[in-house]
Amino acid sequence: MHAHSRVCISHGLAGVRPCFFATCRLAPGCGLSCNMRWAGALGHVACPLRRAFPQGFRWRFAMPPFQCPRCGQTVFFDNTLCGGCGAALGYLPRMRRMSEASVDGGLRRCANHALHGFCNWLLEEPEHSWLCLSCRLTRVSPDLSMAGKLEAWQKLEAAKKRVVVTLMQLGLTPEPKHSAEDPLGLSFEFLDSQPDASPVLTGHADGVITLNMAEADDVYREKARVDFGEPVRNLLGHFRHEVAHYLQYRWLAGNERAMDRCRAVFGDERADYASALAAYHQSGPPADWQTRFISAYASAHPWEDWAETCAHVLLVLDAVETAAAWGLRLEGPAATAEPARAGFRPEVEHLVVEQWLPVARFLNAMSRSMGERDPYPFLIPDEVLCKMNTVQKLLREAATQYLPGSA
Ligand SMILES: [Zn+2]
Ligand SMILES: [Zn+2]
Ligand SMILES: [Zn+2]
Repeated sequence: MHAHSRVCISHGLAGVRPCFFATCRLAPGCGLSCNMRWAGALGHVACPLRRAFPQGFRWRFAMPPFQCPRCGQTVFFDNTLCGGCGAALGYLPRMRRMSEASVDGGLRRCANHALHGFCNWLLEEPEHSWLCLSCRLTRVSPDLSMAGKLEAWQKLEAAKKRVVVTLMQLGLTPEPKHSAEDPLGLSFEFLDSQPDASPVLTGHADGVITLNMAEADDVYREKARVDFGEPVRNLLGHFRHEVAHYLQYRWLAGNERAMDRCRAVFGDERADYASALAAYHQSGPPADWQTRFISAYASAHPWEDWAETCAHVLLVLDAVETAAAWGLRLEGPAATAEPARAGFRPEVEHLVVEQWLPVARFLNAMSRSMGERDPYPFLIPDEVLCKMNTVQKLLREAATQYLPGSA
C-alpha cells in the first residue's frame, strides 16, 4: 500500500502506525521524510514530533546526516567542505539542507566565514545582511586580540546555531533586537569578566542574552558544574535555558491568558525573584524536588522552573529529531516512576515516553560501556511531563501568532 495512506494495515492493527509524513516508498524524493512510528490517539495522522514542529509540508529534518549534493557522501551540519569530492558546502537554514556554496544561484556565505573562518550558513537572495540568520543575532562578540577567544567564540556560535534551528523548526525564528526599545527581538552578548569587576553573569533580560565567555572553557565549566552540584553543564544547555527565558518574555509576558496557564503549573512568577534565589542558594531545593521539577534549580522560582522545563522540551525535540533522522528506533519500556498514567495522554507524553526515554536509556547504557558518566541523568515525573506539555502547547500557540518580520 502507499506509504502515505493514513492507516497502515500491518501497523494499524497493532495500534502502531507510521507518521503521515513517512518517506514515500513508491515515489522516492517526494520530500516527505519522517520515519517515526507511534501509538497514537485516533484523529492524528502525524507523529508527535511532526506535530511539535508546525511547518506544514515544508517540514523536514533540520540536522540529519546530510548528503553532499555533488557526490552523495555523508556530510554533517557544520561541514564547510565535502570530505569525498572537496566541494565547498554550506547550510541553508530556511531550506534545512546542505548546498554547494557556489556564488551563482543567488547564494552567499555568511561574512563570518571569510572574516573568522567559522560559519557555514548560507544566505539566499534577497537577504541583504552580511551575516547569516544566526550570526546576526550576536551583537557583542569577544575581543579577538586575546589568545583563545576566536576558538571560544566559535564554540558559542556552534551551540547557538542548534537552538536557532530548533526555534526555526518551531516556527519561532528570532529576529535581531534593533534597539533597546525593541520589545520583540533577540540579541546575544558574549562577554569576558574584567579584572577588578564583578564577574559576568549568564542570563536573559528584555531580549538580550548575556553569556559569560568563560563557559566556553572546559576546565572552568566542569569546575562550575561540580561546585554547583549540577548533573550536566554545557553550552547548548545554557543557550536553551536563556532562550527559554526569552520565549517567555517574548511570547507569554503580557498575555494574561497564557500567563494564567503558566501559573497553574509553574506557580506565580510574581513572587520576589531576588529573595527566592537567595533562599535557594542558602537552603537548597525542597527535599521532594525530584517528584516535581526537572532539576533542583527549577525549584528556585517559577521563572526558573519555566526556563529549565522549556529548555528540556527544546532538548527532547532536538534529540528525538536527531534519532529519527538517523533512523534510530528503539523498542522497550521506558524508565518511568509510574508506568500507569491513566487518563493522562498529552502529546508530549508520546514524544518523551515512547520516543525519547528509550533512546536516552540506551545512550546512558552505552556511555557506561565506554566508561563515561550518564549523558542523560534526568528523571521525568508526571508533574514535569505535565509542565512540558504546557510548554509545548504554549510554544505552538505562539507560532500561530508569528508573522515573519513582525518580530
Ligand atoms: Zn561531495
Ligand atoms: Zn553565520
Ligand atoms: Zn534562568
